[in-house]
Amino acid sequence: MLPKGHKFPLGKYDCIHANLEREFPGRMQLGGRASEEDVRLVHDRAYVEAVKDGALAEAAVRRLGFPWSDMLVTRAIRSVGGTLTALAWAMEHGASGHIAGGTHHAFADRGEGFCVFNDIAVAVQVARRDHLASGHSRVAIIDLDVHQGNGTAAIFASDPSVFTLSLHGARNYPFHKEESSLDVGLPDGCEDATYLAALDDALEHVAAHKPEVLFYQAGVDSLRGDRLGRMALSHDGLRARDARVFALAKRLAVPLVVTLGGGYHRDVDQSISAHTNVYRGLVGAFG
Ligand SMILES: [Zn+2]
Repeated sequence: MLPKGHKFPLGKYDCIHANLEREFPGRMQLGGRASEEDVRLVHDRAYVEAVKDGALAEAAVRRLGFPWSDMLVTRAIRSVGGTLTALAWAMEHGASGHIAGGTHHAFADRGEGFCVFNDIAVAVQVARRDHLASGHSRVAIIDLDVHQGNGTAAIFASDPSVFTLSLHGARNYPFHKEESSLDVGLPDGCEDATYLAALDDALEHVAAHKPEVLFYQAGVDSLRGDRLGRMALSHDGLRARDARVFALAKRLAVPLVVTLGGGYHRDVDQSISAHTNVYRGLVGAFG
């Protein structure tokens, strides 16, 4: 459990699940657990052990933004596991989504901003180990959460075969930005037209990388009214954003793995409906 009034909207997960279960009965599947071996493809042994043992330093816990608990560890491992399950499904059927994950602020040796382990980074390495031709197979990560995917950028900074794209609020958290393959910093108050034009341009860089699999961090904290977002996208704008990513995966004919990311609207139902739209759009695009 989290302290009362904690900024992390734990309740939204169940609501998104309930919405999708109602609309697409029988299409939801419980994610598996990630093995420690999987997590260690990205994260340092010392960090993984400190998380598991509850031995993180006080400053590290503060950066994370969550109090440590057994539940936190279980949740962090399951969150990676769900993205791995989505990956396996996408490799077989073309596209899949995980209604958690997108924990892009986790670095190899530390977590921050509500992110313990970097599920997408682990899934990239598992994809290359289990599903693609080699450890150098080309992969792209499209990170459209309003906050820069700093952990993901740092993890793959010296690996040119992984293209990391981050569209984010230039003046928003994290205030020290890492270097992604392509960073697009957008202004506070950014609206649909500006956002979508920047995205169209950025996605062509992703296409030019010729990825064999695409990961999509589909955070909805760029929605107007989000407490941590500072942008002003509409629900239609977010749907148009998602449609562009889905169209790119189709055009490139590569598997697509979608993860949840952030959403902290003052009215939590707004975030829930924006997140639900992402997966609704996914089913609409891929059947
Ligand atoms: Zn975010």
